[in-house]
Amino acid sequence: MDVKHLFTIYTGLAQALAPPTYGLPDWLCVSGRTWPIFQPAVEMAAQQVNPTWRQAVEALAALKKKSSQAARRSEYEALFVGRGRPPIWLYESRHVNGRIPGPATFSVQALYKQAGLESESAELPDHAALELSFLVFLCQQEIKSADPEWRAVRRLFIKKHASLWLPNVGRALIHSEYPAWQALGYLLVASLSSSKQLKAQKPEKASAFLLPSIMQPNECTLCGFCVQICPTRALNIVEDESNTTLLLSTKHCIACDHCVRVCIPKALTLESAENTPSPIILRQSERAICPACDTHTVSQAEIDAILTQLGEHPRWLDYCLNCRPYQMELSK
Ligand code: SF4
Ligand code: SF4
Repeated sequence: MDVKHLFTIYTGLAQALAPPTYGLPDWLCVSGRTWPIFQPAVEMAAQQVNPTWRQAVEALAALKKKSSQAARRSEYEALFVGRGRPPIWLYESRHVNGRIPGPATFSVQALYKQAGLESESAELPDHAALELSFLVFLCQQEIKSADPEWRAVRRLFIKKHASLWLPNVGRALIHSEYPAWQALGYLLVASLSSSKQLKAQKPEKASAFLLPSIMQPNECTLCGFCVQICPTRALNIVEDESNTTLLLSTKHCIACDHCVRVCIPKALTLESAENTPSPIILRQSERAICPACDTHTVSQAEIDAILTQLGEHPRWLDYCLNCRPYQMELSK
């Protein structure tokens, strides 16, 4: 890939994804053909077999309407800020480790230091805008110096960090309702997928029909790890009076595989699916009833998982949290 074009594209992506404390870049508010990343994207599309570059160019070219700063900012907030849990997280550690900060945060920080940089941002070093800015720096070094080492560092950073999660952020943006962010999503996927990921990319239609599925319902303990890691909030656990249910919104699933990877009992697999309604129930378990006060407690699936861990059935486990201390006292 042409490093000069990548330099411009990573710069644009870093500017667009940076927290808009002082406003988003002005170019985000004009037609897509005049964005600074448009021409480099066109040239990449002309050079690359990867069809995502073409999709990026088409999406940019279709952005004809001008937009106000306020409108773009509210799109940014809807996508990346949210209340409590944003639809799309912008931290590598959240995507890869399920929490912020995580091992990825410190690993990225160490690589910045090795390259001679100190991060003084108010943001964690594994924020998307900072990782993209690091790539801008590496491209700049590569353009300025004949030392092949910089190219090697850039490739390693993409392999060990950026390609593990930023293409998934891109896929989530492609599935968002905002055309400008869809175009940026295509650019994230095209410019940061590893060559292995690109080779593994299936034709668009086939990959759209891959969905998480649970073949053996009893294997799912309703632990909720998959819900926590899902980048698009396609998975949810809901409780009603009598059941706890794991639901999948099929229209929000981007088949990223994250849920499958965090599922400890390996209950989830990605399977082909066609004409699937949305949402679908992946797992449902009745909630147990406290024998003392008749209120519903946790799901039977969760109780079964605890019993398997304990290897015995202590009587107090059947009671709700209010009645349990008294029952434990009695059993002494
Ligand atoms: S599918 Fe796996 S990760 Fe998700 S709730 Fe069930 S056991 Fe937990
Ligand atoms: S594959 Fe799993 S984690 Fe990824 S979007 Fe679909 S439900 Fe969410």
